[in-house]
Amino acid sequence: MDGQPRNLAPDPLPGGLADGGALARDYAFRPLDGALELALSNVASQARHTPQAVTAMLASALASLAGGEPSPDRVAALCVADRQWLMRELERILGTQQRWLSATCDVCRSRFDLQIDPAALPIKPAGSGFPQARVTWDGHEYLLRVPCGLDQAWLAETQDAGVDAARALAARLVQSVDGALTQDFDAMQLPDDWFVAVDQVLDDMAPAMATKALAACPECGQANTVALEPYGVLARSDTELLDDVHCLASHYHWSEREILALPRARRHDYLRRIDAARGLAQ
Ligand SMILES: [Zn+2]
Repeated sequence: MDGQPRNLAPDPLPGGLADGGALARDYAFRPLDGALELALSNVASQARHTPQAVTAMLASALASLAGGEPSPDRVAALCVADRQWLMRELERILGTQQRWLSATCDVCRSRFDLQIDPAALPIKPAGSGFPQARVTWDGHEYLLRVPCGLDQAWLAETQDAGVDAARALAARLVQSVDGALTQDFDAMQLPDDWFVAVDQVLDDMAPAMATKALAACPECGQANTVALEPYGVLARSDTELLDDVHCLASHYHWSEREILALPRARRHDYLRRIDAARGLAQ
């Protein structure tokens, strides 16, 4: 479909934003033209780390998010699965979604290719009470929130600082203990059992996108786990877009600005006509 927007309303976010009220799970992307495609590459390349690139890219590409503005703050407040979901949608709209993956068998070391349909991958829905989870441990009730983009950015920035990242992250997620709000909760003194309980409850509560697929090796039949890159769209380059601009400018003598203002689908329609006129297609 050449990345054209679907007419149907998109499936809602796996999680959504509460903003202090009811959860809103709607979103819409801006109409895609060359200027937006170029802007997306620029914001991604200027980011210090992946979570910041994801936030910048989504804040640029979205027209609306969860009943409001797609500001960087609101994009960063989305849970991890929502951010992965939106990046996969963006990848689909940009027409760069990877459907063929290469893998090496763990047992016989054969190289093989497998085809995946990203839209058919399973999604684990959010648990009831999302985005908050309760853990009762040793007579105390802890209220936690599921990790979001802010936490991913924080992890990316502190991981080199020698902090026990998993424990420090869990401490960030504690919002209250026995109903009393917490700030700068210190979880470092709590035993491992507490972290196991917290991990389990957060895993149950948070929605999740598939980031792995099982594939049988065609040579020996071994089931292999193949990683699926949730942020593959960050790796796209401008080369194809600039080739398109070059071809249209050479043929029609339009300016770069005019060509970049064309909706992506229209740009490709003209390129097909140029190809057809040259006898390369149809
Ligand atoms: Zn094999």
